[in-house]
Amino acid sequence: MKIFNKTSDLKNYIAPFLSQKKSIGFVPTMGALHQGHLSLMERSLAENKLTIVSIYVNPTQFNNPEDLEKYPRTLDKDTEIISKLNDAIILFAPETNEMYGNDVSSEKFDFQGIDRLMEGASRPGHFDGVGTIVKKLFEIVSPTNAYFGEKDFQQIQIVKCMVEQTKLPVNIVPCPIIREENGLAMSSRNQRLSPQMKENASFIYKSLLKAKEIFLNESIVAANAYIADLYANANDFQLEYFTIAEEKSLLTATEKFPDTHYRAFIVVYAEGVRLIDNLFLQ
Ligand code: AMP
Repeated sequence: MKIFNKTSDLKNYIAPFLSQKKSIGFVPTMGALHQGHLSLMERSLAENKLTIVSIYVNPTQFNNPEDLEKYPRTLDKDTEIISKLNDAIILFAPETNEMYGNDVSSEKFDFQGIDRLMEGASRPGHFDGVGTIVKKLFEIVSPTNAYFGEKDFQQIQIVKCMVEQTKLPVNIVPCPIIREENGLAMSSRNQRLSPQMKENASFIYKSLLKAKEIFLNESIVAANAYIADLYANANDFQLEYFTIAEEKSLLTATEKFPDTHYRAFIVVYAEGVRLIDNLFLQ
């Protein structure tokens, strides 16, 4: 499998694909790969002539230095996983100096307020960091299609907004959330959970399913009250936020309107690990 660390080497490799107008699929990740990441790569392989995966833990999207430091880094294992999936995938694994030079800071974007909701409210500067790195990577890789997981649903809206503003010619492809058998959304952060907690954390998905049932049969207010009560009495899980929002604007909804799509978003701490999940409500 080909691995590039230098931007110039990757660009040279891609150049003939671009001049022949062959489609390039791109899957940006922070590594510690799991089936969720692999599902994006499989989709890209099926839809493009060339698939490029990046592994880079981007410092500017972490607002908490401890979270950045503890983020799992398993490049050798990740390389093996990718080459087993398909040896033709190209891996781009740059160092920070390659991505930022000496100025490790974020560009400031106008995300029209989306960046101040939910993850943005909880993690100041997070989405400027995401926008900065995805823009840099898109400029290097020049993808035709870029694949993102709906697990980070708000991130997809942010990336779409950045693409619209920069007019980069890339098609953003949202992909469904891949879960463990017990329903826990797969995440690199799950590696930091004890085996027992990995089992117990199905609690989060189950709470979303129950909230959906209440949303459908009763109301948003009742679903909110259910979640607040459930987590107030759960010793192992600390609720950071739960919100039912309209899918496009991501604005919190308090009542249901017809022909409108809603999604429930949740962030929970378990054993000090921040876990994120969401569920479509129709
Ligand atoms: P990350 O390495 O966490 O930055 O994730 C890289 C990409 O994989 C992002 O587009 C994520 O949304 C996506 N992803 C992470 N976990 C999952 C999952 N469980 N199912 C689907 N996509 C995922």
